[in-house]
Amino acid sequence: MSRPFRRTKILATLGPATDAPGVLDAVLRAGVNVVRLNFSHGGPEQHAARAEAVRAAAAGLGREIGILADLGGPKIRIERFATGKIALKTGDAFVLDCRADAPLGDSGRVGVSYLGLPQDLRAGDTLLLDDGLIALEVERVAGCEVHTRVLTDGPLSDRKGLNRLGGGLSLGALTDKDRADIRHAAALGVDFIAVSFCRTAADIDEARALAREAGSSAQMVAKIERAEAIENLREIVDASDVVMVARGDLGVEIGDAELPGLQKKIIRESLERGRVVITATQMLQSMVDNPIPTRAEVLDVANSVIDGTDTVMLSAETAAGLHPEKAVQAMERICLGAERQFQMDTDFEAAPRNLQHVDQAIAMSAMFLAEHIQLRAIVAMTESGGTARHLSRFRSSVPIYGLSRHASARRRMAIMRDVYPVDFDSAGLAPRKAARAAVSHLFSLGLLAAGDRVVITSGDHMEQLGATNTLRLLRVGDEGEAEGLGQL
Ligand code: PGA
Ligand code: MN
Repeated sequence: MSRPFRRTKILATLGPATDAPGVLDAVLRAGVNVVRLNFSHGGPEQHAARAEAVRAAAAGLGREIGILADLGGPKIRIERFATGKIALKTGDAFVLDCRADAPLGDSGRVGVSYLGLPQDLRAGDTLLLDDGLIALEVERVAGCEVHTRVLTDGPLSDRKGLNRLGGGLSLGALTDKDRADIRHAAALGVDFIAVSFCRTAADIDEARALAREAGSSAQMVAKIERAEAIENLREIVDASDVVMVARGDLGVEIGDAELPGLQKKIIRESLERGRVVITATQMLQSMVDNPIPTRAEVLDVANSVIDGTDTVMLSAETAAGLHPEKAVQAMERICLGAERQFQMDTDFEAAPRNLQHVDQAIAMSAMFLAEHIQLRAIVAMTESGGTARHLSRFRSSVPIYGLSRHASARRRMAIMRDVYPVDFDSAGLAPRKAARAAVSHLFSLGLLAAGDRVVITSGDHMEQLGATNTLRLLRVGDEGEAEGLGQL
């Protein structure tokens, strides 16, 4: 274990760049904890091939790497142009043709993927294309046509995204393609499924029900990227397991000036409600082309670490960039620097206001001990990763070793800040013996040394979910054997 212990986790999107020979291996080796399969692009066979390649590489590296399937969701796009691309000039008239059989576009008009768009728009609305690079003002709606005026010059090409400033387009969260993709993701055995453009808790519940029906126990990720999701933030966070600050679409819908405040609010809300949180999009955008990040990007990644994110995400930087491996290396370097320079104080404020579960109470007590006596680590013996999640919400200065015999639980823990998943089977051992065996195992891995003091959380029956009810304080002996602590 020569590399330093990084608390913040790295999520990298796979794509054409990581398909090139040797690149996936290099990117994973550089420190990726979870990969994202982007279902907005490519078919099921391509995702299956990538998932398989990740599993093979992870096995080769002896690492736990989670797989996240990101559903495309109801992203509205313009259709294609006869020439592939046009140039818009400020003041031009431009028509969005919302007929199912709209012809290929030209410099005056183009088709749209969402045929209900005219009903959702009024004169004066602002439409943003291509992540806000082009703005159109709606002048009038005439049947299936939306007549607009161009507010900013720029090129516009096939299938670019379309948002309304302020949100409010009445499109459901799950498309028919998403429903089919949930079944594909379930068949791939992914660890996480991300719901794009969710508006309410019901959207997450529905996706979860579909996943369960398809035999998947994946964790559900709520992507916060619509104005409505901000209004319903609390219920969405509660309905999900993981929350993503999806700054790309969110910035377009609510205006970029709102993003810093919302990022902090979403992270805070997620931690307080016991959820894992990812910060995403354009974190190292310039590295799509350049081998080093801009200073502003360095500060952005570091600030998200200071805000308390569990995980930082790379999108085009790894999926389609020129320097995927360097992007991951830069992420790792910046996270480590931020973690070193800004020591987190354990945040008991982030604890749930009312403890509802015994394992939460045990987690809180373990954290209290970690803060008040010198501990080397907290060891969570866990079936599902749940106790590790409760522990990691406090943002302590102590690493959490999450020991589980289930590979799925270990991959789940791969996304949690401060948590280091370890393969360990204590089934059949009495709790006291299991705790001692765990200490010896961590000693043999070099994760604990003689003289270290640890807290171990476990249950009476390790095979039972949510049954953590015990906290043991032990010291590591000279041979790695666990000893009681005489005095503190
Ligand atoms: P996307 O989601 O990359 O799937 O669009 C993230 C975002 O919008 O920020
Ligand atoms: Mn998005």
